[in-house]
Amino acid sequence: MFDNYQFTAAERFLRYVQVDTQSDPQSNTFPTTEKQKDLSKILVTELKQIGLSDAHADDWGYVYATIPSNTDKNVPVICFCAHVDTAPDCSGTGVKPLVHANYQGQDIVLPDDHSQVLRINDYPYLRTQLGNDIITASGTTLLGSDDKAGVAEIMDMANYLMSHKKVKHGTIKILFTPDEEVGKGTAKVNLEKLGADFGYTLDGGEAGSLEDETFSADGVQVVIHGVIAHPGYAKGKMVNAMKIVGEILAALPKDRLSPESTDGKRGFIHPVRLEGIAEKCTIEFIIRDFETDGLKKKEDYLRTQIEERMRTYPKASFEFNVTEQYRNMKEILDQHPQVVEYAKEAIQRAGLNLKMESIRGGTDGSRLSFMGLPCPNLFAGEQAIHSKLEFISVQDMNKAVETMVNLVQVCEERS
Ligand SMILES: [Zn+2]
Repeated sequence: MFDNYQFTAAERFLRYVQVDTQSDPQSNTFPTTEKQKDLSKILVTELKQIGLSDAHADDWGYVYATIPSNTDKNVPVICFCAHVDTAPDCSGTGVKPLVHANYQGQDIVLPDDHSQVLRINDYPYLRTQLGNDIITASGTTLLGSDDKAGVAEIMDMANYLMSHKKVKHGTIKILFTPDEEVGKGTAKVNLEKLGADFGYTLDGGEAGSLEDETFSADGVQVVIHGVIAHPGYAKGKMVNAMKIVGEILAALPKDRLSPESTDGKRGFIHPVRLEGIAEKCTIEFIIRDFETDGLKKKEDYLRTQIEERMRTYPKASFEFNVTEQYRNMKEILDQHPQVVEYAKEAIQRAGLNLKMESIRGGTDGSRLSFMGLPCPNLFAGEQAIHSKLEFISVQDMNKAVETMVNLVQVCEERS
Protein backbone atom coordinates (compact mmCIF):
# COMPACT_ATOMS: atom_id res chain seq x y z
CA MET A 1 0.00 0.00 0.00
CA PHE A 2 2.85 2.39 0.85
CA ASP A 3 5.30 1.02 -1.71
CA ASN A 4 5.45 4.06 -3.94
CA TYR A 5 4.59 6.62 -1.33
CA GLN A 6 7.21 9.25 -0.50
CA PHE A 7 6.71 9.70 3.25
CA THR A 8 6.93 13.35 4.35
CA ALA A 9 6.97 12.91 8.14
CA ALA A 10 10.75 13.16 8.57
CA GLU A 11 11.13 16.09 6.18
CA ARG A 12 8.42 17.98 8.07
CA PHE A 13 9.89 16.96 11.44
CA LEU A 14 13.33 18.34 10.54
CA ARG A 15 11.73 21.72 9.90
CA TYR A 16 9.34 21.78 12.88
CA VAL A 17 12.03 21.01 15.46
CA GLN A 18 13.88 24.19 14.43
CA VAL A 19 10.92 26.30 15.60
CA ASP A 20 11.36 27.02 19.33
CA THR A 21 8.06 26.11 21.05
CA GLN A 22 9.16 25.60 24.65
CA SER A 23 6.32 26.10 27.15
CA ASP A 24 6.80 27.84 30.51
CA PRO A 25 5.40 26.52 33.81
CA GLN A 26 5.86 29.92 35.52
CA SER A 27 3.75 31.81 32.98
CA ASN A 28 0.14 32.81 33.62
CA THR A 29 -0.66 33.64 29.99
CA PHE A 30 -2.28 31.25 27.53
CA PRO A 31 -0.55 29.80 25.71
CA THR A 32 2.23 30.05 28.31
CA THR A 33 4.63 31.20 25.58
CA GLU A 34 3.56 33.15 22.51
CA LYS A 35 6.23 31.45 20.35
CA GLN A 36 4.25 28.20 20.32
CA LYS A 37 1.93 29.92 17.86
CA ASP A 38 4.82 30.20 15.38
CA LEU A 39 4.52 26.48 14.73
CA SER A 40 0.71 26.54 14.81
CA LYS A 41 0.78 29.08 11.94
CA ILE A 42 3.13 26.93 9.85
CA LEU A 43 0.90 23.90 10.41
CA VAL A 44 -2.24 25.74 9.29
CA THR A 45 -0.50 26.86 6.09
CA GLU A 46 0.69 23.33 5.34
CA LEU A 47 -2.68 21.74 6.17
CA LYS A 48 -4.28 24.08 3.64
CA GLN A 49 -1.63 23.13 1.08
CA ILE A 50 -2.52 19.48 1.69
CA GLY A 51 -6.13 20.39 0.95
CA LEU A 52 -7.78 20.72 4.38
CA SER A 53 -9.60 23.94 3.66
CA ASP A 54 -11.07 24.46 7.16
CA ALA A 55 -7.65 24.38 8.89
CA HIS A 56 -7.24 27.22 11.37
CA ALA A 57 -5.57 28.19 14.64
CA ASP A 58 -7.59 29.84 17.40
CA ASP A 59 -6.48 32.64 19.75
CA TRP A 60 -5.04 30.11 22.21
CA GLY A 61 -2.82 28.44 19.60
CA TYR A 62 -4.92 25.28 19.10
CA VAL A 63 -5.02 24.05 15.49
CA TYR A 64 -8.17 22.35 14.17
CA ALA A 65 -8.64 20.75 10.74
CA THR A 66 -10.87 18.17 9.06
CA ILE A 67 -10.16 15.42 6.54
CA PRO A 68 -13.60 14.91 4.97
CA SER A 69 -15.17 11.45 4.84
CA ASN A 70 -15.00 9.63 1.49
CA THR A 71 -17.29 6.72 2.34
CA ASP A 72 -21.07 6.23 2.21
CA LYS A 73 -20.97 4.36 5.50
CA ASN A 74 -21.82 5.98 8.82
CA VAL A 75 -18.36 5.94 10.43
CA PRO A 76 -17.45 7.41 13.85
CA VAL A 77 -15.38 10.61 13.73
CA ILE A 78 -11.78 9.92 14.80
CA CYS A 79 -9.42 12.60 16.10
CA PHE A 80 -5.61 12.47 15.98
CA CYS A 81 -3.95 14.79 18.46
CA ALA A 82 -0.38 15.94 19.20
CA HIS A 83 1.17 18.82 21.14
CA VAL A 84 3.31 21.55 19.60
CA ASP A 85 5.22 22.58 22.76
CA THR A 86 8.47 21.08 24.05
CA ALA A 87 9.50 20.44 27.65
CA PRO A 88 10.89 23.23 29.86
CA ASP A 89 13.47 20.75 31.28
CA CYS A 90 15.96 21.22 28.44
CA SER A 91 16.67 24.08 25.99
CA GLY A 92 14.65 24.13 22.78
CA THR A 93 16.34 27.19 21.29
CA GLY A 94 18.41 26.77 18.13
CA VAL A 95 17.76 23.05 17.67
CA LYS A 96 20.01 21.65 14.92
CA PRO A 97 18.64 18.27 13.85
CA LEU A 98 21.11 15.75 12.38
CA VAL A 99 20.30 12.63 10.37
CA HIS A 100 22.61 9.66 10.95
CA ALA A 101 21.75 7.56 7.91
CA ASN A 102 22.04 3.77 7.94
CA TYR A 103 22.95 3.46 11.64
CA GLN A 104 25.28 0.51 12.31
CA GLY A 105 25.37 0.44 16.11
CA GLN A 106 28.28 2.86 16.47
CA ASP A 107 28.50 5.52 19.23
CA ILE A 108 26.91 8.73 18.01
CA VAL A 109 28.95 11.69 19.33
CA LEU A 110 26.95 14.90 19.17
CA PRO A 111 29.10 17.57 17.48
CA ASP A 112 28.30 20.63 19.63
CA ASP A 113 29.09 18.89 22.93
CA HIS A 114 31.35 15.86 22.65
CA SER A 115 30.37 14.69 26.14
CA GLN A 116 26.92 13.88 24.73
CA VAL A 117 27.29 10.38 23.29
CA LEU A 118 24.42 8.12 22.26
CA ARG A 119 25.52 4.55 23.02
CA ILE A 120 23.70 1.34 22.22
CA ASN A 121 24.45 -0.02 25.72
CA ASP A 122 22.72 2.94 27.38
CA TYR A 123 19.75 2.90 24.98
CA PRO A 124 19.05 -0.76 24.12
CA TYR A 125 16.16 0.27 21.84
CA LEU A 126 18.90 1.26 19.35
CA ARG A 127 19.48 -2.47 18.77
CA THR A 128 16.17 -2.53 16.90
CA GLN A 129 17.29 0.37 14.70
CA LEU A 130 20.27 -1.10 12.80
CA GLY A 131 20.17 0.07 9.19
CA ASN A 132 17.68 2.82 10.06
CA ASP A 133 18.16 6.58 9.83
CA ILE A 134 18.46 8.11 13.30
CA ILE A 135 17.73 11.76 13.96
CA THR A 136 19.36 13.52 16.94
CA ALA A 137 19.98 17.10 18.05
CA SER A 138 23.52 18.49 18.05
CA GLY A 139 24.34 18.24 21.77
CA THR A 140 23.20 21.50 23.38
CA THR A 141 19.41 21.20 23.12
CA LEU A 142 16.68 18.63 23.20
CA LEU A 143 15.46 17.38 19.83
CA GLY A 144 11.74 17.90 20.34
CA SER A 145 10.44 14.57 19.05
CA ASP A 146 8.12 14.90 22.07
CA ASP A 147 5.87 15.79 20.42
CA LYS A 148 6.87 17.19 17.04
CA ALA A 149 7.19 13.59 15.89
CA GLY A 150 3.47 13.18 16.56
CA VAL A 151 2.76 16.48 14.80
CA ALA A 152 4.79 15.56 11.71
CA GLU A 153 3.28 12.07 11.53
CA ILE A 154 -0.28 13.39 11.69
CA MET A 155 0.59 15.91 8.95
CA ASP A 156 1.92 13.10 6.77
CA MET A 157 -1.14 10.92 7.50
CA ALA A 158 -3.29 13.81 6.21
CA ASN A 159 -1.03 14.19 3.18
CA TYR A 160 -1.30 10.47 2.42
CA LEU A 161 -5.07 10.28 2.73
CA MET A 162 -5.64 13.42 0.66
CA SER A 163 -3.45 12.03 -2.14
CA HIS A 164 -4.84 8.44 -1.98
CA LYS A 165 -8.58 8.87 -2.27
CA LYS A 166 -9.12 5.13 -2.83
CA VAL A 167 -8.34 4.55 0.85
CA LYS A 168 -11.78 4.68 2.47
CA HIS A 169 -12.32 6.45 5.78
CA GLY A 170 -14.85 8.48 7.76
CA THR A 171 -14.41 12.07 8.90
CA ILE A 172 -11.04 12.60 10.58
CA LYS A 173 -10.28 15.52 12.87
CA ILE A 174 -6.81 16.87 13.49
CA LEU A 175 -6.01 18.66 16.74
CA PHE A 176 -2.70 20.27 17.72
CA THR A 177 -2.49 21.63 21.27
CA PRO A 178 -0.10 23.98 23.12
CA ASP A 179 1.21 23.64 26.71
CA GLU A 180 0.96 19.88 27.19
CA GLU A 181 4.32 19.79 28.96
CA VAL A 182 3.11 22.20 31.64
CA GLY A 183 -0.14 20.28 32.19
CA LYS A 184 -2.41 22.78 30.48
CA GLY A 185 -2.80 21.18 27.06
CA THR A 186 -6.54 20.68 27.37
CA ALA A 187 -7.34 23.89 29.26
CA LYS A 188 -8.85 25.76 26.32
CA VAL A 189 -9.72 22.91 23.97
CA ASN A 190 -13.19 23.06 22.41
CA LEU A 191 -14.43 19.48 22.11
CA GLU A 192 -17.83 20.55 20.85
CA LYS A 193 -16.20 22.33 17.93
CA LEU A 194 -13.89 19.35 17.38
CA GLY A 195 -16.90 17.04 17.14
CA ALA A 196 -15.02 13.72 17.36
CA ASP A 197 -16.33 10.47 18.86
CA PHE A 198 -12.94 9.27 20.08
CA GLY A 199 -9.30 10.10 19.55
CA TYR A 200 -5.66 9.10 19.77
CA THR A 201 -2.74 11.13 21.00
CA LEU A 202 0.42 10.46 18.98
CA ASP A 203 2.91 10.92 21.78
CA GLY A 204 4.54 7.62 22.67
CA GLY A 205 7.85 5.79 22.26
CA GLU A 206 8.68 2.40 20.83
CA ALA A 207 7.12 1.39 17.50
CA GLY A 208 4.12 -0.84 18.17
CA SER A 209 3.42 0.46 21.67
CA LEU A 210 -0.05 1.49 22.74
CA GLU A 211 -0.81 3.08 26.09
CA ASP A 212 -4.33 2.74 27.45
CA GLU A 213 -3.63 3.31 31.09
CA THR A 214 -2.29 6.18 33.18
CA PHE A 215 -2.01 6.93 36.87
CA SER A 216 -4.92 8.38 38.76
CA ALA A 217 -3.65 11.47 40.53
CA ASP A 218 -4.53 13.70 43.48
CA GLY A 219 -2.69 16.55 45.14
CA VAL A 220 -2.69 16.90 48.93
CA GLN A 221 -1.82 20.13 50.68
CA VAL A 222 -1.01 19.75 54.38
CA VAL A 223 -0.85 22.91 56.49
CA ILE A 224 0.66 22.61 59.97
CA HIS A 225 -0.25 25.38 62.39
CA GLY A 226 2.19 25.67 65.29
CA VAL A 227 2.06 28.11 68.19
CA ILE A 228 4.37 31.09 68.09
CA ALA A 229 5.87 32.96 71.06
CA HIS A 230 8.89 35.18 71.74
CA PRO A 231 11.76 32.69 71.78
CA GLY A 232 13.09 34.18 75.03
CA TYR A 233 9.83 33.47 76.82
CA ALA A 234 8.55 30.48 74.88
CA LYS A 235 8.96 27.75 77.50
CA GLY A 236 5.87 25.60 77.62
CA LYS A 237 4.17 27.75 74.98
CA MET A 238 5.89 27.51 71.59
CA VAL A 239 5.13 24.68 69.16
CA ASN A 240 7.42 24.82 66.13
CA ALA A 241 5.60 23.79 62.93
CA MET A 242 8.88 23.10 61.11
CA LYS A 243 9.87 20.47 63.67
CA ILE A 244 6.51 18.74 63.26
CA VAL A 245 7.02 18.71 59.49
CA GLY A 246 10.43 17.11 60.00
CA GLU A 247 8.81 14.30 61.99
CA ILE A 248 6.07 13.78 59.40
CA LEU A 249 8.53 13.47 56.52
CA ALA A 250 10.79 11.18 58.56
CA ALA A 251 7.81 8.92 59.27
CA LEU A 252 7.19 8.22 55.57
CA PRO A 253 8.39 4.71 54.59
CA LYS A 254 11.84 4.53 52.97
CA ASP A 255 11.39 1.25 51.10
CA ARG A 256 7.93 1.63 49.58
CA LEU A 257 5.25 4.19 48.64
CA SER A 258 7.78 6.60 47.12
CA PRO A 259 8.76 7.30 43.48
CA GLU A 260 12.34 6.27 44.23
CA SER A 261 11.26 2.86 45.57
CA THR A 262 8.47 1.86 43.16
CA ASP A 263 7.90 0.94 39.52
CA GLY A 264 5.35 -0.98 37.45
CA LYS A 265 1.84 -0.79 38.84
CA ARG A 266 2.73 0.52 42.32
CA GLY A 267 1.76 4.05 43.29
CA PHE A 268 3.27 6.49 45.77
CA ILE A 269 2.98 9.40 48.21
CA HIS A 270 5.49 12.05 47.18
CA PRO A 271 6.26 15.37 48.91
CA VAL A 272 7.08 17.88 46.15
CA ARG A 273 7.19 21.23 47.93
CA LEU A 274 7.74 22.59 51.42
CA GLU A 275 7.32 26.13 52.61
CA GLY A 276 7.12 27.68 56.02
CA ILE A 277 8.23 29.35 59.22
CA ALA A 278 8.08 28.23 62.85
CA GLU A 279 4.47 29.35 63.11
CA LYS A 280 3.09 27.65 60.02
CA CYS A 281 4.32 25.22 57.35
CA THR A 282 2.75 23.94 54.17
CA ILE A 283 3.72 20.64 52.49
CA GLU A 284 2.46 19.75 49.01
CA PHE A 285 2.19 16.06 48.20
CA ILE A 286 1.30 14.30 44.98
CA ILE A 287 -0.50 10.96 45.34
CA ARG A 288 -0.41 8.44 42.48
CA ASP A 289 -2.03 5.06 41.92
CA PHE A 290 -3.41 3.12 38.95
CA GLU A 291 -6.55 2.41 41.00
CA THR A 292 -8.57 5.48 41.92
CA ASP A 293 -9.59 3.67 45.16
CA GLY A 294 -5.90 3.30 45.92
CA LEU A 295 -5.56 7.08 46.09
CA LYS A 296 -8.00 7.23 48.97
CA LYS A 297 -6.08 4.49 50.82
CA LYS A 298 -2.80 6.37 50.42
CA GLU A 299 -4.40 9.61 51.54
CA ASP A 300 -5.86 7.89 54.62
CA TYR A 301 -2.44 6.43 55.38
CA LEU A 302 -0.81 9.86 55.08
CA ARG A 303 -3.47 11.45 57.30
CA THR A 304 -2.98 8.75 59.96
CA GLN A 305 0.77 9.34 59.95
CA ILE A 306 0.18 13.06 60.49
CA GLU A 307 -2.41 12.52 63.23
CA GLU A 308 -0.02 10.25 65.11
CA ARG A 309 2.75 12.88 65.04
CA MET A 310 0.30 15.61 66.04
CA ARG A 311 -0.79 13.72 69.14
CA THR A 312 2.44 14.86 70.84
CA TYR A 313 1.49 18.50 70.15
CA PRO A 314 -2.08 19.10 71.36
CA LYS A 315 -1.81 22.87 70.88
CA ALA A 316 -0.86 22.55 67.21
CA SER A 317 -3.38 21.80 64.46
CA PHE A 318 -3.36 20.78 60.82
CA GLU A 319 -5.37 21.05 57.61
CA PHE A 320 -5.51 18.30 54.99
CA ASN A 321 -6.80 19.41 51.59
CA VAL A 322 -7.19 16.92 48.72
CA THR A 323 -7.58 18.12 45.12
CA GLU A 324 -8.30 15.83 42.18
CA GLN A 325 -5.67 16.13 39.42
CA TYR A 326 -6.50 13.47 36.80
CA ARG A 327 -7.82 9.92 36.53
CA ASN A 328 -6.69 6.68 34.90
CA MET A 329 -8.01 6.82 31.32
CA LYS A 330 -8.67 3.07 31.42
CA GLU A 331 -11.84 3.74 33.45
CA ILE A 332 -13.23 5.48 30.35
CA LEU A 333 -11.58 3.33 27.66
CA ASP A 334 -13.06 0.15 29.16
CA GLN A 335 -16.50 1.59 28.37
CA HIS A 336 -15.50 1.97 24.68
CA PRO A 337 -13.46 -1.17 23.94
CA GLN A 338 -13.49 -0.62 20.17
CA VAL A 339 -11.20 2.42 20.55
CA VAL A 340 -8.29 0.30 21.78
CA GLU A 341 -9.26 -2.67 19.56
CA TYR A 342 -8.97 -0.59 16.36
CA ALA A 343 -5.54 0.63 17.40
CA LYS A 344 -4.32 -2.90 18.17
CA GLU A 345 -5.49 -4.11 14.77
CA ALA A 346 -3.86 -1.13 13.02
CA ILE A 347 -0.51 -1.76 14.73
CA GLN A 348 -0.58 -5.44 13.77
CA ARG A 349 -1.45 -4.62 10.15
CA ALA A 350 1.66 -2.43 10.08
CA GLY A 351 3.65 -5.59 10.81
CA LEU A 352 4.64 -4.47 14.30
CA ASN A 353 4.62 -6.33 17.60
CA LEU A 354 1.90 -4.84 19.76
CA LYS A 355 3.16 -3.70 23.15
CA MET A 356 0.53 -2.59 25.67
CA GLU A 357 1.91 -0.17 28.22
CA SER A 358 0.84 1.74 31.31
CA ILE A 359 2.07 5.29 31.81
CA ARG A 360 3.40 6.18 35.25
CA GLY A 361 2.12 9.69 34.74
CA GLY A 362 -0.73 11.47 33.04
CA THR A 363 -1.30 12.55 29.46
CA ASP A 364 -3.56 14.96 27.69
CA GLY A 365 -5.32 11.76 26.68
CA SER A 366 -6.31 11.05 30.29
CA ARG A 367 -7.86 14.50 30.59
CA LEU A 368 -9.51 14.29 27.16
CA SER A 369 -10.94 10.87 28.02
CA PHE A 370 -12.68 12.27 31.08
CA MET A 371 -13.83 15.32 29.13
CA GLY A 372 -15.74 13.00 26.79
CA LEU A 373 -13.18 12.08 24.13
CA PRO A 374 -11.87 8.55 24.86
CA CYS A 375 -8.21 8.89 23.90
CA PRO A 376 -5.43 6.28 24.29
CA ASN A 377 -1.84 7.09 23.32
CA LEU A 378 -0.24 5.66 20.16
CA PHE A 379 3.52 5.39 19.64
CA ALA A 380 5.27 8.18 17.76
CA GLY A 381 8.83 6.78 17.97
CA GLU A 382 10.12 9.23 20.61
CA GLN A 383 13.19 8.09 22.58
CA ALA A 384 15.19 9.61 25.47
CA ILE A 385 12.75 12.50 25.61
CA HIS A 386 13.41 15.75 27.47
CA SER A 387 17.16 15.22 27.11
CA LYS A 388 20.03 16.26 24.86
CA LEU A 389 20.35 12.62 23.72
CA GLU A 390 16.79 12.51 22.44
CA PHE A 391 16.50 10.53 19.20
CA ILE A 392 14.01 9.05 16.77
CA SER A 393 14.25 7.02 13.59
CA VAL A 394 12.76 7.99 10.24
CA GLN A 395 11.49 4.42 9.90
CA ASP A 396 9.57 4.52 13.22
CA MET A 397 7.97 7.79 12.18
CA ASN A 398 6.81 6.22 8.92
CA LYS A 399 5.40 3.22 10.83
CA ALA A 400 3.33 5.63 12.93
CA VAL A 401 1.91 7.17 9.75
CA GLU A 402 1.14 3.70 8.41
CA THR A 403 -0.57 2.76 11.69
CA MET A 404 -2.86 5.80 11.54
CA VAL A 405 -3.79 5.08 7.91
CA ASN A 406 -4.54 1.46 8.88
CA LEU A 407 -6.58 2.64 11.82
CA VAL A 408 -8.95 4.84 9.85
CA GLN A 409 -9.50 1.95 7.45
CA VAL A 410 -10.19 -0.55 10.25
CA CYS A 411 -12.75 1.87 11.63
CA GLU A 412 -14.41 2.23 8.20
CA GLU A 413 -14.45 -1.54 7.60
CA ARG A 414 -16.06 -2.26 10.99
CA SER A 415 -18.75 0.41 10.60
ZN1 LIG B 1 4.57 14.66 24.91
